[in-house]
Amino acid sequence: MVKSIVVVGANLAGGRSVEALRKIGFDGRITLIGDEPWRPYERPPLSKEVLWEPGKSTQKVFLHSEDWYQTNRVDLRLGARAVKLDLAAGGVRLSDGELITAERFLLATGARARLLPLSGANAPNVHHLRTKDEADALAKDLYPGARIVVIGMGVIGSEVAASAHKIGCEVFAVEPAAAVMIRAVGERFGHWLAEKHRIKGIHVRFGVSPLALRQQGGEVRAVELSNGESIDCDAVVVGIGIVPATELAAGAGLIVDNGIVVDRSSRTSHMNVFAAGDVANQPGFFGGLVRLETYQNAADQAAAAAESMLGLTVDYFKPAWFWSDQYDLNIQGVGRLDDSLSIVVRGDLKYDDFSAFFLNGNVVEGVLTVNRAFETGIGKRLVERRISVNPAALADPMTDLRDLLKIKSDVA
Ligand code: FAD
Ligand code: NAP
Repeated sequence: MVKSIVVVGANLAGGRSVEALRKIGFDGRITLIGDEPWRPYERPPLSKEVLWEPGKSTQKVFLHSEDWYQTNRVDLRLGARAVKLDLAAGGVRLSDGELITAERFLLATGARARLLPLSGANAPNVHHLRTKDEADALAKDLYPGARIVVIGMGVIGSEVAASAHKIGCEVFAVEPAAAVMIRAVGERFGHWLAEKHRIKGIHVRFGVSPLALRQQGGEVRAVELSNGESIDCDAVVVGIGIVPATELAAGAGLIVDNGIVVDRSSRTSHMNVFAAGDVANQPGFFGGLVRLETYQNAADQAAAAAESMLGLTVDYFKPAWFWSDQYDLNIQGVGRLDDSLSIVVRGDLKYDDFSAFFLNGNVVEGVLTVNRAFETGIGKRLVERRISVNPAALADPMTDLRDLLKIKSDVA
């Protein structure tokens, strides 16, 4: 029987894993190590409410109350950096030299924001957004009339642009690709969403890269672009992707390839070491290995890893699901939103009220809903069960989507 577990990374995956361990009935020693000063919290509000109602929402982001950890006998080490996974010594070494031993280890070390590779990117008014402290610092620079340059229009850039607009900032957005959030929603809907930002008054520059940050008095006052333009600004927000925090795994000789490689039970290449969340590169629902960067995956894979560490049989194998809130749009995506698939739309793009189904042959492999959260749940089940549908019936607004779930699935 396992008697001790160390979890490194005290955010969503780390927090949910220790919660799951106690729920399952694990009675042994749990140590949760995190290098941030905060107990586990949720990141989704950081690009949304925390920016437009700072102070009010800041206490709402935590996963558990302060005393939960004590009540549940979780030894929570905050502000503590793990510097080595020492498998020979059977423990995790902290930066102060302490070795915390255990029989099982969960690496929930997530990812860090990719830094803008330009001189001046460390100025106090240039914001990368990953942590609560970074969100609090950014919130101070977002005020009515502030000129903000957003670099990268992926999910962070799009959500921050919408939040800054809500506050009353004048927002300029710079994106090397041709549209918005292409990685998340594909090119067709990336163009649709880009138009939404334009209509709201965001000054978008596509196919353009930032070349230099012009500084004055230690702060960045203008961003120079590859199209020759220079945009004066009060602050800059950078959202150009993330880099998985794999150094502990690599140092311990585990297989690392765009993240820590795990199997469907969240086990790494070492039998006593597991990984979950943004850092894990796992068997993809549509084949290959994929590293999912979503809230749902971090929470669910961590719970699966908890079971796995206790020796329970686990088969964690799900399509990705994410949501994003921007302006009056609730956007949700499940599975493959790939432009090479055929797309059937229910509803109307004009009214921001539609669901798009991505079909491989007749099999539903992806669903994008906009202001139709009620269709996301059914969409998830269609994708998970690899249901074959009649595209005409799918497009017909009179078809009750629940009826499609009764059709034979393509899963063997
Ligand atoms: P992380 O959240 O990165 O946590 C890892 C933790 O480990 C960090 O606290 C890190 O400091 C710590 N750590 C790393 N190395 C060490 C070490 N050596 N020693 C000690 N501690 C260490 N997803 C959605 O689906 N919908 C959303 O609306 C959404 N909004 C988001 C908004 C923002 C601003 C951000 C940044 C992300 C958002 N996401 C959203 C993504 C989602 O939050 C992430 O997928 C999730 O946080 C991943 O959790 P994680 O625990 O795997 O990793
Ligand atoms: P992202 O979605 O990967 O988008 C990064 C964007 O920046 C891409 O459009 C990318 O273009 C562009 N880019 C890359 N290098 C650039 C450069 N040097 N200059 C300008 N643009 C550049 O990542 P993100 O928006 O930074 O988000 C970070 C993480 O937070 C992700 O894990 C994301 O899932 C998470 N998050 C999720 C949500 C949500 O799900 N609602 C909300 C916020 C954050 P190319 O693709 O062409 O490289």
